[in-house]
Amino acid sequence: MKEITLKTPTSESKVYCGANAFKSYISEYKNKQIFLVTDTNVYAIYSKLIDDTFGSNCPKCVFEAGEQSKNPQTLFRILNLMLSSGMRRNCTVIAFGGGVVGDIAGLAAALYMRGVHLVQVPTTILAQVDSSVGGKTAVDMCGVKNVIGTFYQPERVIADPMFFATLPEREVKCGLGEIIKYGALDGNIYLKLIENVEGLNCESFLSEIVFDCIRHKAQVVESDERDENGARKTLNLGHTTGHALELFYGNKSHGEYVLIGMYCELQLARKYGICGGQYAKNIEMLVLKVLEQLPQFKDIQSAANVALHDKKNDDDNIVLIVPEREGKCAELKLPLLEYKKFLKDCFDNAR
Ligand code: NAD
Ligand code: ZN
Repeated sequence: MKEITLKTPTSESKVYCGANAFKSYISEYKNKQIFLVTDTNVYAIYSKLIDDTFGSNCPKCVFEAGEQSKNPQTLFRILNLMLSSGMRRNCTVIAFGGGVVGDIAGLAAALYMRGVHLVQVPTTILAQVDSSVGGKTAVDMCGVKNVIGTFYQPERVIADPMFFATLPEREVKCGLGEIIKYGALDGNIYLKLIENVEGLNCESFLSEIVFDCIRHKAQVVESDERDENGARKTLNLGHTTGHALELFYGNKSHGEYVLIGMYCELQLARKYGICGGQYAKNIEMLVLKVLEQLPQFKDIQSAANVALHDKKNDDDNIVLIVPEREGKCAELKLPLLEYKKFLKDCFDNAR
């Protein structure tokens, strides 16, 4: 079991990571007033564990699984249920699920009576390495992702690898996408990935690497909690292109789009002389290990236009975070036209 303390100017979160973390670090909440938030898929699998841990009468909201539920209606349903079940100012919201549950339950915890305790129990790899740590909470509205939200740090994050056993393959791929992103940001993670490239989804390896990713993210968040000085922006490596394609095509998992984005942006870094040699080959190898092959998309130039709305952009330039060398990434700014042409060439060359 490993432990991290994440300190910000106004909060302190404890992150517990490893086998048995759930059993060991949830027990003290049994005697507190809690409200559990989860989704239908997670509840279908873990209702017994939830009932055994918190009692079958524990007040809860189980909403329909999927990003389409991450909206103000579900948020207000949770708040309503909290009020009607008598939640007090010192209650604890337990977010038990993937990133959708974590984001929406986190926002409910931040809003209810101006803020109650929050514990994140992330059950997807993506939620463990990314969304449960760092305090970003949000819901989508009118088709715009994460447009209503706040920073609200959980008092505890419990990242237990036992939940990975039930994940569908697509969600494992999604999590590995983010883990490989950390490999391009952190030299230690990079070396472990290269050494274990044949066993990326074995449970003991995942458990170890998830901790390393959380530690990396915690350090970044400590230095830039509110996404203001550029440090947190690095976590967006692969995401400029990945998000644009995800928004335009939307038929693969987020992590797969991140990997596709990383592949393209690595080629950009090569083209502009930022990244090269064996390091670039290794990053490409890791990306393709999970992605298998670069898919083909129709009308890639129109998809590239979506990158214009990326929040990192300045004026008319597309801003990308690209791999540079072990443990270091770089920022690259490109005019939209150049970016579009590059993206088209990148997919044509991969045919
Ligand atoms: P998700 O919560 O939708 O989970 C993916 C699917 O896996 C769902 O169908 C869910 O029901 C199911 N699932 C969850 N745990 C399971 C388990 N143990 N076994 C079987 N099935 C399980 O999606 P996600 O990929 O975890 O998270 C994506 C969300 O996270 C997005 O809304 C994204 O915006 C958000 N996000 C937030 C941050 C942040 O900093 N707050 C960072 C990255 C992503
Ligand atoms: Zn991501």
